[in-house]
Amino acid sequence: MPTIQVSVVTPDGKVYDGAVDMVVVRTVEGELGILPNHIPLVAPLTVGAVRLNKGTTVEKVAVTGGFVEVRPDQVTILAEAAELPSDIDVDRAKEAEKRARQRIESAKTDAIDFKRAELALRRATNRLDVAGK
Ligand code: ATP
Repeated sequence: MPTIQVSVVTPDGKVYDGAVDMVVVRTVEGELGILPNHIPLVAPLTVGAVRLNKGTTVEKVAVTGGFVEVRPDQVTILAEAAELPSDIDVDRAKEAEKRARQRIESAKTDAIDFKRAELALRRATNRLDVAGK
């Protein structure tokens, strides 16, 4: 069975590099499942889990925005931030979630604060989801 090479790169360095059967990313337009020999494309990513399917296993990476570049044999995810489950500090994400929820409560009249808090909440809940918490 053909595989596709995936790398997840952030400004801090490479987070993942390996061959998988399928990769699923969350673009701003929805979920995109990529198999080997996919047509080339570039798409912006939203906050979400990247799923890496290999045989019967699925690995998840928490990704915070960026871009996916697809070529027939290679997928490159250029993320603002990305963490493997083992690299996620659960207490930190829980604190971020709490802070964001409080800000959403108190920022009801300020659209910019509200939006920022909402994005922070999405980052935190995505990390907790990927960490299995
Ligand atoms: P916080 O409010 O806790 O800083 P954040 O969502 O504002 O969270 P980001 O701006 O998305 O954080 O990321 C900044 C850096 O911190 C990135 O390198 C990211 O990988 C890392 N990071 C953020 N939260 C966590 C976490 N819970 N566990 C591990 N690394 C994290």
